Amino acid sequence: MNLCSLAPYFHDEAAAWELMESLRWPNGPECPHCGEIDRATYLTPRNGHRTTSTGAVSYRRIWKCQACKRKFSVLVGSIFEDSKVPLSKWLAAFYMLTANKNGVAAYEIHRTLGVTNRTAGFMMHRIREATKAGPLADMLRGTIVADETWVGGNPKNRHGEAPNDRKRLDARIYEPITPGMKIRKTDKTPVLAIINADTGEVRSRVVTDVSGHTLRKAIAEHVDLANSHLRTDEGAQYLQMGREFVSHETVNHSEGEYARGDVTTNRAEGYFSQLKRSIGGTHHHVSKTHLPRYLAEFDFRYTTCKLSDSERMKRLMRQTGGRRLTRRMLTAR
Ligand SMILES: [Zn+2]
Repeated sequence: MNLCSLAPYFHDEAAAWELMESLRWPNGPECPHCGEIDRATYLTPRNGHRTTSTGAVSYRRIWKCQACKRKFSVLVGSIFEDSKVPLSKWLAAFYMLTANKNGVAAYEIHRTLGVTNRTAGFMMHRIREATKAGPLADMLRGTIVADETWVGGNPKNRHGEAPNDRKRLDARIYEPITPGMKIRKTDKTPVLAIINADTGEVRSRVVTDVSGHTLRKAIAEHVDLANSHLRTDEGAQYLQMGREFVSHETVNHSEGEYARGDVTTNRAEGYFSQLKRSIGGTHHHVSKTHLPRYLAEFDFRYTTCKLSDSERMKRLMRQTGGRRLTRRMLTAR
């Protein structure tokens, strides 16, 4: 799957439906109601094609499950459900998001696919929802690199926020500035990256602060501490949790040390610099509300960086089930 082989599907809605089925259901149609695989019958439309309620041609392909007797299409229970955007445009958006190293701006989707800006933004968020590691994702185990960074631009450049808004200023937290551990109040958002140095898998999180207690809690949700080795910088917040790991080794950033033998936090540095390049270069600004979804997208891209574009797209397409994201969920604070 590359741009040339996918191009026909971008303007042939009927073909796009069949491609979507083969991507989401590699082992035959999967009933979203009872979970049966490959026991459904395709319902051929009477007049050769289906129509929508307004009489327009519909390319929807309907299946009937032989186990539970219920009907479904490839969209049911997926991020595409209830979307009025044609599947051919969804496919193109998936391709653009997975094939670009730095992601793609909603404006590009709007311009390239001819959907409104609002729809483009919503499509991107739905696709990002699919990039999230599922709730049943395995715990990370092995050599774990943990590091935190601060994401966000100069608050003066942010529109819609008064520069001297008392409430906002009071809500700021303290950002430690290494070296010397000076601290200052900041509008930036702390982000923790947890990277499995053995497999390259990364899970990053927005955290409320960078205290040892908060970081330990976030790391323990993703890592099997008792069977892993921890690699961090010399930050004091990692010392106590380090004892719960098999081993804990540090590099001393304040003395310019980033690697000593196989002890290195370079992976985290690389991840963060790519994240910041993408936010600065592609998206220009990411709000705190949406930051977790952007992080999910970057984690997915970083974790799958060794895969080909087509393998990455197939994997993402298989993750589109069981995740709904409504406009109300998106705008809820
Ligand atoms: Zn069924």
